[in-house]
Amino acid sequence: MQVTATIIAYFHTCLRKMYLHHHGIRMEHTSDVVYEGKLIGESTYEDRAAKNTQLELDGIKIDYYDAKTKTVHETKKSDKMEHAHEAQVLYYLYVLQRNGIEGASGIIEYPTLRQRKHIDFDPERDVPIIEGWLQEIEQILEQEQCPPVINKSICKSCSYYDYCYVAEEIEN
Ligand code: SF4
Repeated sequence: MQVTATIIAYFHTCLRKMYLHHHGIRMEHTSDVVYEGKLIGESTYEDRAAKNTQLELDGIKIDYYDAKTKTVHETKKSDKMEHAHEAQVLYYLYVLQRNGIEGASGIIEYPTLRQRKHIDFDPERDVPIIEGWLQEIEQILEQEQCPPVINKSICKSCSYYDYCYVAEEIEN
């Protein structure tokens, strides 16, 4: 199974969201938060497009990769889901390494917060961790039952909120 970076990020956010997304239930297009995040990414790198290339490998798409410095650039709106952002970039670095690009690193930028975070990839430390994620992801995605709602504060800003809660309330 080809695992996308979105699946990795959702694995670290909500298993239900990961499952729904994988099984073709997509709600991201309905979300202002997702749209704003995209806009911030595009405007931040407007003037950097010449230095960066877009890379597509094994089901992942890296929008901004600086081949000269072997750096993946990822822009995010807020650092609320920082661990999911880090996992996503780490997964990019893992896929790059698997395709012969050794020694790449990542930078996550939060332009609205004026912050940036460097992500280093240590194959000895990170490959077993990521391969553990992949095994777990495969098991969850193959289950017949969708994981339950998580009832966390992140649900309020999730593009699947109506799907998870409003439909349920109507049914009850
Ligand atoms: S609304 Fe909550 S339970 Fe539903 S997919 Fe989003 S984060 Fe998961």
